[in-house]
Amino acid sequence: MSDTQITRPLFDQVMVPNYAPLNMIPVRGEGSRVWDQADNEYIDLTGGIAVNALGHAHPELVDALTEQAKKLWHVSNIYTNEPALMLAQKLVHNTFAEKVFFANSGAEANEAALKLARRFAFDNYAKDKTEIIAFYQGFHGRTFFTVTAGGQATYSDGFGPKPADITHLEYNDLSALEKAISDKTCAVILEPLQGEGGVLAIDKEFAQGVRALCDKHNALMIFDEVQTGMGRTGELFAYMGLGVTPDVLTSAKSLGAGFPIAAMLTLTKFANSLTVGTHGTTFGGNPLACAVANKAFDLINTPEMLQGVKDKEILFRDLLTEINNEFSVFKELRGAGLLLGAALSEQYQDRAKDFFLASAEQGLLVLVAGANVIRFAPALNISNEQIKQAMVKFREAVKTVTLK
Ligand SMILES: *Cc1c(COP(=O)(O)O)cnc(C)c1O
Repeated sequence: MSDTQITRPLFDQVMVPNYAPLNMIPVRGEGSRVWDQADNEYIDLTGGIAVNALGHAHPELVDALTEQAKKLWHVSNIYTNEPALMLAQKLVHNTFAEKVFFANSGAEANEAALKLARRFAFDNYAKDKTEIIAFYQGFHGRTFFTVTAGGQATYSDGFGPKPADITHLEYNDLSALEKAISDKTCAVILEPLQGEGGVLAIDKEFAQGVRALCDKHNALMIFDEVQTGMGRTGELFAYMGLGVTPDVLTSAKSLGAGFPIAAMLTLTKFANSLTVGTHGTTFGGNPLACAVANKAFDLINTPEMLQGVKDKEILFRDLLTEINNEFSVFKELRGAGLLLGAALSEQYQDRAKDFFLASAEQGLLVLVAGANVIRFAPALNISNEQIKQAMVKFREAVKTVTLK
């Protein structure tokens, strides 16, 4: 096998075909730049889909990882470990939470949140208090429970009987929720800004209305901050800018700044339902992941970093507006902080992929969110200069698409 060419066609030979990666294969990165096998350079506005909050190969994260790698990688949950306790303490000190559960991915953190809600209701209320209310276009991961909670049935169809008692409603429609919610509802799960669903912002009044209705019906309010958390919107967590506090919050993506780790945060009164043996994970909270996340947390949770995100949002919006004034391709710019979406105008419906491919041609990596939104989720520490360079490339990409 030593003569095997490690190139893109090998993907189609040896990988399950559930992804369709670009032809270029990135081999190294530094900050907000990456290089492919042929040493072509790209500006990265994808942040590994809102994961690499501090860019690629951040020296302090490399140090945190390698220092821990020399000490202890894994111990199992028969023991606790220092990096996990330090990280949990930071999360508790800096948020509403009193208790933390670590997992490895956003889906697993949400799975834990949904199971907690069901168990808390089971322990404290009637046995039929099992309904979970979620929202169309919401995204909560790909385990069968979380993908069924997600708001796109096509993602959960075709896998046999679905986890039951999940109701979907329109996002930002408080009267729909008011009608649907009852004492049989054990949880309402939502994103404080729908990322995968198209970078759709939440109405503050809706968020606050959800809070009030959850209180009225003893349902847990679960904020899925897997994408919005850890500085992405310019707040440490997005709930902090909405005037509401959830009962359960999930974090993943940027939490490890590129190393897989997730967390479910909650209050002691709810956490008490996850007694010994009720739930678990082999890798969750392992020392390597927690060591990296500790360092990432310290670097992200500073007033300068969070204010920087808000300032860079303004720069992005200004430059995207300039491009749009020239080419009229977007009907709307939306999102918050460094999770931004450019929604395509009528004339360019369903063509987000074309802009994505044209950008790659220009040496620029962007994301899509569905067929009609171009999404930007760069590293939080991307420089203003890199944003400007990126938008020069993006303008070229937009131009080529409009000429087609
Ligand atoms: C990405 C994402 C998830 C799933 O996270 P995984 O780590 O892929 O399991 C869940 N919720 C939201 C809001 C996400 O953006």
